[in-house]
Amino acid sequence: MVRRASIVAVCSLALLALVALVPAANAADFKVEKHVVGETLGGRPIECNVYGDGDDVFWLIATIHGNEAAGTPIAKKFVEWLEKNPQEVEGRKIVVMPVANPDGFADNVRFNRNGVDLNRNFPAGNWGEADVKPHGATPLSEPESRVLMRVLCQYFPSRVVSIHQPLNCVDWDGPADKMAEAMAAKCKLPLNKLGSRPGSLGSFVGTTLGRPIITLELPADAGMDEEVLWNEYGDAIIAALRYKHEEPVAEKAVAP
Ligand SMILES: [Zn+2]
Repeated sequence: MVRRASIVAVCSLALLALVALVPAANAADFKVEKHVVGETLGGRPIECNVYGDGDDVFWLIATIHGNEAAGTPIAKKFVEWLEKNPQEVEGRKIVVMPVANPDGFADNVRFNRNGVDLNRNFPAGNWGEADVKPHGATPLSEPESRVLMRVLCQYFPSRVVSIHQPLNCVDWDGPADKMAEAMAAKCKLPLNKLGSRPGSLGSFVGTTLGRPIITLELPADAGMDEEVLWNEYGDAIIAALRYKHEEPVAEKAVAP
């Protein structure tokens, strides 16, 4: 009897040790940082959440135009999905900004409180070119766009997805055609290269920095139901996360 009890005890200990070795699938498996990265003109915090600390950096940004807000529930669902799939964070750093223009979001308007289109306020080569939208007095004249720039410089993402409405397509800037194809294959939005908008985040990241950036244009009637939106576009966001951008191989220097 004593012997049997000790066998049970040993087995229980072995089982406990095994359980301890199996990683638990929860958010605690990766580093999570929640930052307030700045403040809007209206005094609202701009939040940025960072998951993992790998070298492959993906930035998801939603609602830079305050009245194109369907990306915000998608960002929320994306975070929930990451927490259920911690293996997806391995080797990556995932920067999620659910509301890039909190004042515009609260007011349900495109612009910030200065009436400036933040997505025309970046120091791209085409800033201020013929464009009917108010682009600001100078590039980065607005506190909100300066915050976005700081996040961009701090994390220097290898690819970016910025969610907009209502043009109903997967648009891209820079070397992102393959990434756009990968995303379009996972949702109903067609590929459509809209052309670089002056001073946009797309122009700056894609053309000035030469990094892939997708402007995911949801339809006007996308709604705000997070389950519906995630069912419709979640796989495309996951495709962007998993997409591996290969830097072009530099040509070997040839002696003159
Ligand atoms: Zn937009």
